[in-house]
Amino acid sequence: MVCRNVYETLYSAINFLDNMIIINGKQTAADLRLKLKNEVDNLKFKFSKIPGLTVILVGEDAPSKIYVKNKEKSAKEIGLKSEIIKYPNTIDEKIVLNKIHELNKDDSVSGILVQLPLPKHINTKKIIDAINPDKDVDGFHPKNVGNLSSGHESPVPCTPQGCLILIKSIEPNLSGKKAVVLGRSNLNGKPMTQLLLNENCTVTIAHSKTKNLKEECLKADILVVAVGIPKLVKGDWVKKDSIVIDVGINKTEKGIIGDVDFAQASKFAKAITPVPGGVGPMTIACLLKNTIDSFKRSIV
Ligand code: NAD
Repeated sequence: MVCRNVYETLYSAINFLDNMIIINGKQTAADLRLKLKNEVDNLKFKFSKIPGLTVILVGEDAPSKIYVKNKEKSAKEIGLKSEIIKYPNTIDEKIVLNKIHELNKDDSVSGILVQLPLPKHINTKKIIDAINPDKDVDGFHPKNVGNLSSGHESPVPCTPQGCLILIKSIEPNLSGKKAVVLGRSNLNGKPMTQLLLNENCTVTIAHSKTKNLKEECLKADILVVAVGIPKLVKGDWVKKDSIVIDVGINKTEKGIIGDVDFAQASKFAKAITPVPGGVGPMTIACLLKNTIDSFKRSIV
């Protein structure tokens, strides 16, 4: 999933504040994109072909439009073929499904991503299930979810994949560590739990119905928070010398903030991601990586 020398280059991407480390996701993502760009150049030279990413965007959701634009820009910057297919909010589900079937058969398309959320009249599960699992660069297809949980190689959801790279930049060997993941979404919490389990962590997954959240968090050597509540995690929830990964993106009057009270938590943590500039940039970089990996699998 992630080759070893990615981690080795990460130490240059870490900022130290006293003894506490602010994990610089922006720099780490830039380093990864550079490595991927070189890989695309090599693939082009070797096979006279380039990997292609196609994103389907339905409707006018403003954040989705920005995410999709950023994905296209980043894909083009590293030399991938990149295409956005846009449909209006009222589009018939069948038209989207037919397009996915067409893209599944198109050899120039290595990765297909349907930007979520979809309008209510479209069945998200049906759409995800229709994507060829080999081209499912989000890693959401049930086959890929199963592969991840059984430890087989498959596309790994981008945000948790990025989180793991950042965690391992601080602590390469996670075996035996106690990890707590806050949030159990299919997008973040569940695959993050699986990735940490695959690294031999002892993992607790906590959520909105968990009792004594603070006590659970205080046990964590590694705490990953993906909830969507600004500053939910306070400083006194954080174990001393732990690694804290904040996935949250919350728009507030004061700008974008995370799910962790950074100022407080950084007094206790050994290393912590900021918001913005932590996990966010890693998500797109890992999407590019998944697209290239999908291309490589298709030519073997
Ligand atoms: P989601 O709404 O699908 O899931 C939220 C999870 O948090 C649920 O499992 C729920 O049980 C849990 N939860 C809710 N209230 C809780 C509480 N009080 N205590 C403990 N757990 C609680 O959200 P998601 O899609 O996983 O996204 C989570 C956050 O991550 C959001 O802020 C989102 O914007 C952000 N996000 C960031 C990136 C990135 O690239 N950095 C990518 C995707 C999502």
